[in-house]
Amino acid sequence: MTDSNKKDLLHRYLFDKFHVRGELVQITDSYSAMLENHDYPNVVKRILGELLAATSLLTATLKFEGEISVQLQGDGPLSYAVVNGNNHQQMRASAKFADDINEGSLLDLIGSGYMVITIAPKGTDRYQGVAALDKDTLAECIENYFETSEQLRTRVWLATDIGETKCTTAGMLLQVLPVEERAKEDFTHLEALTNTITDDELLHLSPEQVLIRLYHEDNPQLFEPQEVTYECGCSREKTADAILRLTKEDALSLVEERGDIEIICQFCLKQYLFDKIDVEALYNNNADTNNATVN
Ligand SMILES: [Zn+2]
Repeated sequence: MTDSNKKDLLHRYLFDKFHVRGELVQITDSYSAMLENHDYPNVVKRILGELLAATSLLTATLKFEGEISVQLQGDGPLSYAVVNGNNHQQMRASAKFADDINEGSLLDLIGSGYMVITIAPKGTDRYQGVAALDKDTLAECIENYFETSEQLRTRVWLATDIGETKCTTAGMLLQVLPVEERAKEDFTHLEALTNTITDDELLHLSPEQVLIRLYHEDNPQLFEPQEVTYECGCSREKTADAILRLTKEDALSLVEERGDIEIICQFCLKQYLFDKIDVEALYNNNADTNNATVN
């Protein structure tokens, strides 16, 4: 069913006549790669897929360079799920879940909890929006977030397909363009059309076919797509910064206890090891740098 040559692409589209914008994303390889080696049960794969497609769509609404993180947390069997992305559509994912987790709705899985959307424009302060998770689907939670935080009528459609070897996730977003008198009517028209999309079509038709199938009389215009990739972005340096948040004494006593400090990246599972010599050097270099900035 899945076309193995299909790239992971995010498309943006507009209409001549309507004051509404659209996005369509389909992700197979990057989604499959970020699940690899993690032992996620299918239900966790599915939620991470929806989060991935949603984060890609959200990231495409950014008007600046920066990062976005969409995080779900609660007291249910899926206590934590997060996808981080940036304006280059580089994405990574992680989750924490109970061993006995079962299929269920978003609310069954997360329990009593909330969604935290963190937007971090490059070079300025980050801001955070917290929304209650009180809807049945992630798509509805994202719509709710846009309507309460940005007062922009927004609809989101998400679908995932968990295969034996490859997984696919896909999503669409419709949003009114701000401050347009006619946008409300336009939106209702396009929303009704888009509501006829099936999960199978959204996951497996080409973007051109999707747009023709939904809006053939309305002349949608597709823009040059952007590739979505799996990029963790972790490094030994950033991991060392995490160690430096401990006092030198605490770090050294950890090394004494265990021989090494081992830090495994929660996203890509890469292992970083710091032995006694590394830890000593870390704190000595850090002291040098601090002195240099003071002087
Ligand atoms: Zn990593």
